Amino acid sequence: MTVTTHKTFCRFCHAYCAIEVDVEDGKPIEVRGDAEDPVYGGYTCIKGRQLPEQYTTPARITESLKNKGDGEFDVIDTDDAMDEIAAKIQQLIKNYGPRSVATYVGSYGYQNSAALVLPKAWHQSVGSDSYYTSVTIDQPAKAISASRFGTWGGGTHKFTDADVCMMIGNNPVVSQFTPFGGPPPFSPYARLRDEMKKGMKVIVVDPRKTESANRATLHLQVNPGEDPTLLSGMIRMILDEGLHDIEFCSHHIQDLEELTARVQPYTPQYTADRCGIPVEQLVEATHTFANAKRGVAVGGTGPDMAPRGVLTEHLILVLNAICGRVNREGEQVPNPGIVSPPASRHADVHEANPAFNKGPKSRVRGLGEVFGEMPTAALNDEILLEGEGQIKALICLGGNPMVAFPDQDKTYEAMQKLELLVCVDLYKSATAKLADYIIAPTISLERDDVTMLTDTWYDVPYSHYTKAVLPRNEQSREEWEIYWELSHRSGVPIELPGGPLDPTKRPSKYEVLKLIAPNARISIDEMRAKGKGHLYEEVDVRVEPGRSGRTAQLQMLPEGVADEITAVFNENIWRDGKIIDEDKEFTHLLISRRLKHVFNSSGQQLSNLQKKGTTNFAYMNPEDLKAMGVESGQLIEIQGAYGMLIGVAEAAKDIKSGVISMAHAFGDLPGNWGDVRQKGSSTNRLLDDHKTYDKITGQPRMTAIPVNVRHVKEDAA
Ligand code: SF4
Repeated sequence: MTVTTHKTFCRFCHAYCAIEVDVEDGKPIEVRGDAEDPVYGGYTCIKGRQLPEQYTTPARITESLKNKGDGEFDVIDTDDAMDEIAAKIQQLIKNYGPRSVATYVGSYGYQNSAALVLPKAWHQSVGSDSYYTSVTIDQPAKAISASRFGTWGGGTHKFTDADVCMMIGNNPVVSQFTPFGGPPPFSPYARLRDEMKKGMKVIVVDPRKTESANRATLHLQVNPGEDPTLLSGMIRMILDEGLHDIEFCSHHIQDLEELTARVQPYTPQYTADRCGIPVEQLVEATHTFANAKRGVAVGGTGPDMAPRGVLTEHLILVLNAICGRVNREGEQVPNPGIVSPPASRHADVHEANPAFNKGPKSRVRGLGEVFGEMPTAALNDEILLEGEGQIKALICLGGNPMVAFPDQDKTYEAMQKLELLVCVDLYKSATAKLADYIIAPTISLERDDVTMLTDTWYDVPYSHYTKAVLPRNEQSREEWEIYWELSHRSGVPIELPGGPLDPTKRPSKYEVLKLIAPNARISIDEMRAKGKGHLYEEVDVRVEPGRSGRTAQLQMLPEGVADEITAVFNENIWRDGKIIDEDKEFTHLLISRRLKHVFNSSGQQLSNLQKKGTTNFAYMNPEDLKAMGVESGQLIEIQGAYGMLIGVAEAAKDIKSGVISMAHAFGDLPGNWGDVRQKGSSTNRLLDDHKTYDKITGQPRMTAIPVNVRHVKEDAA
């Protein structure tokens, strides 16, 4: 048999590592990193190397399925399935209005470079605002806080060539994800090592001594949920000691005096005590960060899923800004974007333009659209709440709401109430089991894609267009293609930036990508012609002088922030060594973590990844387990104020006493306690979506959750 080797990039997760795939007899047989790639240099992780099994596993859905009504499925021709789905959607729009049809794009949908733009454009074409993604239950705080803060036209300092990098609740060595200036998501360990060799100091803030903390110069093992406290204390110290960039602040920053006054209660001793760290560590971290010439502080999923995530991200912006961590006139913008359209960069402030409180409103909790999407934390209620605007149909693209949405029991009720649930899913996931139709998707090796999602995450001007490596099976569809199928059947064209998508003729992915990015700095044609990842060294964008008449300043205290800083001071849940929340006493705070061998709920089906563990262990400090009389491997009941789950205890010295650490997006449908060791438990069973939530994004408290823990016997579980 002849083996052919193809250059492409991995889309198992959003790190998009450049790889080589050996194909024999039409099947992928081996994946390795592309050592010639100028950015990735041969890096892969264990997940990416399983792409051959992802292609061949019998667990993969290769034909579309229709629910017989009893949870069993029949095979259905995909064209027939789409005829039935399109007819039902047209009927729902006619009877209940366009808002009755919703889309949710989950983690796997993000790996298809057209699966965000096309569905959203279809929603606009039919007049439906019911467009949801996993971002609003993950890290919406970043875009929200940046929009009301204002932005520096020249861009901010990035990880590469910084003298200091502070990562708050962020573990890139495992998560492969730190946009907004942290280590690039690929080859994270090597990137940290190389920059530290050049002299970078790395500060990690995390309740767990994570894989990244192990490599850091300084680890602040803070109590969960205290990131806003820590940041307020650091900002106070910097301003009090005059360590800030006085020249930059005097021109470009608003409300500095008011901010200084507002953070005064956060004395070093108070801040350190509340965070549970020695005051000397707080001082060292603050001085190390502030005294560096170039630097960046970034937040991860941890603080963004915790209470007051938007405030935390705001304080990170404040910290970077007062230390003047921006590119100055004449400096090179390390990566101005390749798929993005060209734009000049100036040394001035783009006025704040809050990406919320405008556009359509949700029917619950006073929430509304955030950066053009509806808040996913309200989706269950929008399905369950009768009346005008009720959602009756949901198309779920590469997502698994049953283990990802807050409040699993409510999600179960909502999914069952839908008149139409369509899942485009590689596997019969917990959600797909409830679907009316499961549409077989292509896997990444079967489709063209371009590094659109990561375009501005690189620290150099790099992009990669890949053609499909393998032919696709006739029954499968790409995620975006579902919407072309709907447009084709209704005759309503989908408008893209480059023009309308012809509903009468099925477009190729290449044609779609050209319509999505018609004004790319480097054309899709040119990227495609390279046939591999490419560094566009000729792209040299410099920061131009600030424009005359530009007087906008970065907003230190946009509406509500001053009150929030004070509110955090007054809401200390750590009292006399106990955790008190809403007058109830708890023993532990449960925090979320990432695992290297899975990407949310993807990967749990593959044999080599299963060997790394099939459950999401409840990691606890060994002393805590000893005090409870529990040994590693035994079952524990984790009881929160709003729900309970069973976990498999595992001792871990890297966890603070009083903390439990579990991966999210595990488990199955409610009630699968019996197979907790095989499938794990959904931590979302512990979440309430209506009491402790962010008032802008609706995101509930998804980490730092107060819980009580007790040993349970195997048969009782
Ligand atoms: S980090 Fe791993 S899963 Fe993610 S793109 Fe790279 S090889 Fe693939």
